[in-house]
Amino acid sequence: MTDSYRGSCLCGAVRYEIDEFMPGIAHCHCSMCRKFHGAAFATIGTVAGSKFRWLAGEDELKDYIAKNGTTRSFCRHCGSSIRFASPRAPEDEIEIALGTLDSDLPLKPSAHIFVGSAANWTVLQDDLPQYEEARGSHKIRHEPSKP
Ligand SMILES: [Zn+2]
Ligand SMILES: [Zn+2]
Repeated sequence: MTDSYRGSCLCGAVRYEIDEFMPGIAHCHCSMCRKFHGAAFATIGTVAGSKFRWLAGEDELKDYIAKNGTTRSFCRHCGSSIRFASPRAPEDEIEIALGTLDSDLPLKPSAHIFVGSAANWTVLQDDLPQYEEARGSHKIRHEPSKP
């Protein structure tokens, strides 16, 4: 038995439900995530399409297609960043901006990705691996805290 997780945009027009996350939540520091989220990084979780449902407001989403072909979907009323889709990802996978979750999550992020593009004012003080680009690319820093 798994609990389901619910999320929504800032204004509440868009609401969704997730049964189960796939492994591998990451903080993405790429310049597009930074701009789209207006934040130092975006925290993204991946969900199988069959484990994801829109509860309300799917029609209220607007898509922005970036130069690299990735699609970013946001609420057209409040601008909340909700969904990310890469043409390179498997068809049935949905990536969700976890900042929009209303439920607690029993999982934690497991990596920082695209740290090579991080803002120079970003301070990372956790023990997670830091990849220069995507997960599995060159690790640029890993400074586990010593006991
Ligand atoms: Zn909204
Ligand atoms: Zn990114």
